[in-house]
Amino acid sequence: MRTDHINSKKWNFSASLVAVLLLWAAQAGAQSTYIVARALVDPLAERLVQNPVVEIDGNRIVAVQANGTVPAGAKRIDLGDATLVPGLADVHAHLSWFATDTNVSFMGVSHTDEAIRSVINAKVLLMAGFTMVRNTGAGGYSDVSVRNAINTGRVPGPRLKVSGQSLGITGGHCDQNLLPKQYNLSNDAIADGPWAVRAQVREHKKYGVDLIKFCATGGMLSKGTSVGGRQYTMEEMQAIVDEAHTHGLHVAAHAHGPEGIRYAIEAGVDSIEHGSLIDDEGIAMAVNQGTFLTLDIYTSEYLVAEGAKVGFLPEMLEKAKIVNEQRYDIFRKVAESGAKVVFGTDSSVIPHGTNAIQFSRMVEHGMTPMQAIQSATTTAAELLGWEGQTGAIAPGYFADIIGTTNNPLEDVSALEDVIFVMKDGQVYKNVGMGVE
Ligand SMILES: [Zn+2]
Repeated sequence: MRTDHINSKKWNFSASLVAVLLLWAAQAGAQSTYIVARALVDPLAERLVQNPVVEIDGNRIVAVQANGTVPAGAKRIDLGDATLVPGLADVHAHLSWFATDTNVSFMGVSHTDEAIRSVINAKVLLMAGFTMVRNTGAGGYSDVSVRNAINTGRVPGPRLKVSGQSLGITGGHCDQNLLPKQYNLSNDAIADGPWAVRAQVREHKKYGVDLIKFCATGGMLSKGTSVGGRQYTMEEMQAIVDEAHTHGLHVAAHAHGPEGIRYAIEAGVDSIEHGSLIDDEGIAMAVNQGTFLTLDIYTSEYLVAEGAKVGFLPEMLEKAKIVNEQRYDIFRKVAESGAKVVFGTDSSVIPHGTNAIQFSRMVEHGMTPMQAIQSATTTAAELLGWEGQTGAIAPGYFADIIGTTNNPLEDVSALEDVIFVMKDGQVYKNVGMGVE
């Protein structure tokens, strides 16, 4: 009896020890995942880390070690010779529009269709390595619904910031000018005058947008607008910015021509979209005020090459040509100025998923590969209000990590071929393991 008692005590002791060891092993394995690769691009310290080991717990990065080791028995994702890069951002996209749409065909697209198309394209961008996207213009607040569905885990997609319908003047770039008066066709957020634009901003806030986008000049893909011509007065632009900032919304201004760009910067917008014909004064103003410049330099090149096949009106293609002739020279000036260039492609004009092609053009025309990557990571995170949260692979950051076969600091076009995508700690793509 006594012996039995001792034996059972012993057994209990060993059983507890085993249980503790098992629990410890389970915690090391279940709580942390370790990603192993050949190199890691660090846009914060502007360096390449060799043989990194990235420890992830849940949706956050816990540690990054050069030449690190993985604890025995821990969960490991071995990406071999791949280079790790922070998840990329595209701060100018239209998820509800396909590159095969023209202004005419888009007239048959309902707001419900826009939501469905956005769900499809959100996944395409995520799989191409874009874990942060700013949607700069969509009908019926469809982008708000898609953002909410992604945030609650119902559909896969990047972290989204959304604008709802863009504000614009009657007959301007953000209006719809294809049909004669008897059809009374105009876009939802057309507003003229300071109080009318304030009312629009308030409505956008009510329905859940993250930012306000307005059209400060004409554009390439609208009928009857001059691409360089200013739209809105200073008084109206200031009213938009004041009202938006009062409600904690940031402001993006579509602007191609130099005067509209200068007006928008002076009015206090957070970012200039396109900025294709920005002059020296505009560049200096952007540098001084810290205004972000979203320069989608590949769009006009693509439109000149492909726009006629898609079926855009000749006047639109003519405007694309005018922009394209000057664009790369102007980009070089901006890149050398020290202005905050942020990566945005107008994804939708170019096919969704081909966004990373623009990196090669940025490097060809004045940026280093590291600067181009920073524009889509650290700089973009700053504009999107996620600084210190995402845009780098660093302790405390969200586990938004992509992998490329080649090193993008040697050849930035490596970003066009993404073989691994993790967002918020979840693996969406791992080509080597057949997940895609
Ligand atoms: Zn756009």
